[in-house]
Amino acid sequence: MKVTAAVVNGEKRDFELEEIELDAPKDNEVLIKLVATGVCHTDVAGQDGLTTPMPVVLGHEGAGIVEQVGAAVSSVKPGDKVILSFSYCGKCRNCLEGHPGMCEKFNDLNFAGPNFDGTHRMHKDRHDLSLFFGQSSFVTYTVVDEHNIVKVPDDADVDLAYLGPLSCGLQTGSGSVLNYLKPEPGATIAIFGMGPVGCRPSWGLRSPKPAGSWSLTSMTNASPWRKSWAPPMSSTARISTWKLRSRN
Ligand SMILES: [Zn+2]
Ligand SMILES: [Zn+2]
Repeated sequence: MKVTAAVVNGEKRDFELEEIELDAPKDNEVLIKLVATGVCHTDVAGQDGLTTPMPVVLGHEGAGIVEQVGAAVSSVKPGDKVILSFSYCGKCRNCLEGHPGMCEKFNDLNFAGPNFDGTHRMHKDRHDLSLFFGQSSFVTYTVVDEHNIVKVPDDADVDLAYLGPLSCGLQTGSGSVLNYLKPEPGATIAIFGMGPVGCRPSWGLRSPKPAGSWSLTSMTNASPWRKSWAPPMSSTARISTWKLRSRN
């Protein structure tokens, strides 16, 4: 099928909106109609040619609707709302121990360019286009492996536009604190930088698990508008270095 993608055709080149060809999903794959996507600094690294062979369709914070599923797909059906995340093999030791982010094939599956089985679904003028993070969400439709999908609950009354960043920024920030740092109740945490990743651990304060008993200090050198945007419900103290930087 014909779809529209923001293609990067060479290192440091601008995004170019192009009509490309998208193959049908194979047995293990799902066709997704993208509704929204975030933009992460890793997309810029990809645009600079630091991660993935060109030409490439970047984007790795996608959210959308399932359009079609392969014969072996069991976790979603057409019409389901889904969030797209990174790809992992599901078979290596790290995956089996519950750490898919440490998958031994992470680089191959997320940055090398092909889909899960080593072939491509996106083409332009008989050339293959690289897949990025297993999803390439800067496109109107994409084909991803079932592993990449997290289903949004049927009864969740939520705009998918808010969920795309769960794919990277939110899980990176929250996961770093909740799953690895694992602060004890009463601990004080300082977070440097209030971007999409830095803001997210603060959301953990609202989750029932850490008991909401952390003291969270967020440090930012961002402008006043960013400071006001950083979730006020999050930090017990916020320190801005903006004025110090401006004075220098
Ligand atoms: Zn990212
Ligand atoms: Zn793995």
